[in-house]
Amino acid sequence: MGRDTLEVSHLHTSFFTERGEVKAVQDVSLTVGKGQVVGIVGESGCGKSMVARSIMGLVRKPGRVVSGSITLGGRELTSLGEKELCKIRGRDISMVFQEPMTSLNPTMRVGRQVQEVIAIHENLPKDEARRRTLKMLSDVGIPEVEARYSAYPHELSGGLRQRVMIAMAMVMKPRLLIADEPTTALDATVETQIIALLRQLADAGTSVLIISHNLGVIAQLADYVYVMYAGRVVERGSVFELFDNPVHPYTHGLLGAVSSLRGQSRVLQTIPGVVPNLASLPKGCSFAPRCNKCMATCTATQPELIRVCAEHEASCHLLEGGDAP
Ligand code: SF4
Repeated sequence: MGRDTLEVSHLHTSFFTERGEVKAVQDVSLTVGKGQVVGIVGESGCGKSMVARSIMGLVRKPGRVVSGSITLGGRELTSLGEKELCKIRGRDISMVFQEPMTSLNPTMRVGRQVQEVIAIHENLPKDEARRRTLKMLSDVGIPEVEARYSAYPHELSGGLRQRVMIAMAMVMKPRLLIADEPTTALDATVETQIIALLRQLADAGTSVLIISHNLGVIAQLADYVYVMYAGRVVERGSVFELFDNPVHPYTHGLLGAVSSLRGQSRVLQTIPGVVPNLASLPKGCSFAPRCNKCMATCTATQPELIRVCAEHEASCHLLEGGDAP
């Protein structure tokens, strides 16, 4: 893998509460190559956003990364202090959140907010920083940038606010962009535009990690997909393999009756039952209480990831005989 590759290896992140250890992320390994779009999909509470927060060094107390490694371009991030992480955030890794209104400062003009990111990382003369800001706003498809530079967040549409967030995330040309549910608050037309923009960024060499419960977004954008359940990766594969040949019962449940999602925007199907309490996970496979294929061994032993084919792995006891479920 190249210099800009993100490698997460056997990551464990937990919250230590009065009620015990809440295992939010368990043994997650993933790779995002240069210019690659990697998707993490799963229901809310499955740990996907906590993987992103762990990478960004933004896990709040009483949580912490317990073990594992996170490297970007070969540099270990888990051992860095807050000062060094601050330098990396925005410059090497940026994050776009679901709701721009809560991430943008409502009292500051949006152009200034983008310019502030430059000021944190680089000592540029003001007019040059402004020029770079205007170019970035234009690059993310914001029309009439001079006028929009001086607008406050509430004066912009949801789609333009999300573009401002992406401009803030991209202005330092980071190696890795993490997008956590970047289109959830947007209508379908704007969603399509934001997906196209993220694809352009990846084609220009940015590595993109996209987190979404929207299978349509993942299907359109990602090259490689990780499915998470109860803090663990239960299936991973190229987008073609995963959508055309899902093998884990949970992934089947997510896909529901939809045979092909590419080119469509669909949210997850409902799976009967609820995500287990991460503070008291059942023994064996965490999906067992909701799985209609559960066997005796499932409630006794945690299944390991098993190779389905070159670009596809899943953790399910049904695969141990060599047959797909
Ligand atoms: Fe279902 Fe068993 Fe596979 Fe878990 S290991 S998904 S319970 S069949």
